[in-house]
Amino acid sequence: MNTPSAYVARGMDVCLLLTYECDFACRHCMCDCAPGRTGLMPVPLACRAIDQFNMSPRFDGHVSLAGGEPWLVYDHMREIMAYGCERYGNTFTVSTNAAWARTAATAESLLRPLVSRGLTALQISLDDYHLQYGSAQSVGHAVTAAKALGCEVAIQTIYTNRSRRKDELARLLPGDALRLVDTWTEGSVIPVGRAAACIRPDDVPDEWRGAKGMCTLFLTWTVMPDGEMSPCCSANLSETKPFGNIFTEELEAVLARHDMDPILNAIGSFGGPHLLLKALHALGPTDVRDRGWSNHCHACLDILRQHEAVAACREYLRGCEADLLLLRLHNSEQMLRFLHGRLTKEQLSFPDFDVESRQFY
Ligand code: SF4
Ligand code: SF4
Repeated sequence: MNTPSAYVARGMDVCLLLTYECDFACRHCMCDCAPGRTGLMPVPLACRAIDQFNMSPRFDGHVSLAGGEPWLVYDHMREIMAYGCERYGNTFTVSTNAAWARTAATAESLLRPLVSRGLTALQISLDDYHLQYGSAQSVGHAVTAAKALGCEVAIQTIYTNRSRRKDELARLLPGDALRLVDTWTEGSVIPVGRAAACIRPDDVPDEWRGAKGMCTLFLTWTVMPDGEMSPCCSANLSETKPFGNIFTEELEAVLARHDMDPILNAIGSFGGPHLLLKALHALGPTDVRDRGWSNHCHACLDILRQHEAVAACREYLRGCEADLLLLRLHNSEQMLRFLHGRLTKEQLSFPDFDVESRQFY
């Protein structure tokens, strides 16, 4: 059974990873980006991806551009934005380390052409790992210029047990920049990609205790430079299995293939792998560890890589497919209301699952 897109809430967006090249080589990078790393999304293929999303009734018209560092392929980025903005009226967020904003004037001159091509938001990374390469001064220039041009500005901090948290980092921002920041989020490191090799295990926070959380499954699709797709905001989910390739397949066919997947819907319904862990516990002793995860995404990526555990969960959830689809759609609706400020985090309500009766409540 496929879920026709017309029945699914409009609210899906897409993040295109334009390049794996970066002028930084942060130890906590999940995608192994670094200077000289190859892998660039060609402009015509990026435009084909934009066409595909704009044809879907689920798409909300917003495109994020990320990397690597998108500013290293500035002309490329500008061309892709012009295409989406002029043809479809798309709006854009760009994620960046802000190293290009060396002076206030440079920041303004590089941002202005993007604003006229649909840029509405800048997401800037700032934490101790980025600061090994960049400066809070550049971040301050980027924040100030982006706000003066009418963009929203978000800062994202990734922390480990030994790194500084956002309150300390906020003091590093020059002048008025802190007052201009719209949102500042922080998240614990996820030890995959380069982070798995370069962040010491005792530096990874052991914080996740099975809580249901924020999950962008089926709401944000990430597209790698070679067109491979990941069904959430984490590019690394595509390493757990192939989901599809936007350069060679129709988006609707990819969506239809995964809409009824009980494993993905179990994650999307509970904001992380909460139900998969319940299923694994109900099945008896397994090799899957159930501690030491920094957050729900770390647990999710870890479990999904273990194909035998996933197969056991799939078998356990046989017969629950329709419930899980409906619950995931309900959860996606809530997430969208939360993201648009119509629900607070405290008002989010998740279902639960009784392992004895295999009933949801
Ligand atoms: S975390 Fe961001 S800035 Fe750091 S290497 Fe990776 S892509 Fe570059
Ligand atoms: S919990 Fe899993 S599916 Fe959801 S956002 Fe995190 S990695 Fe993606």
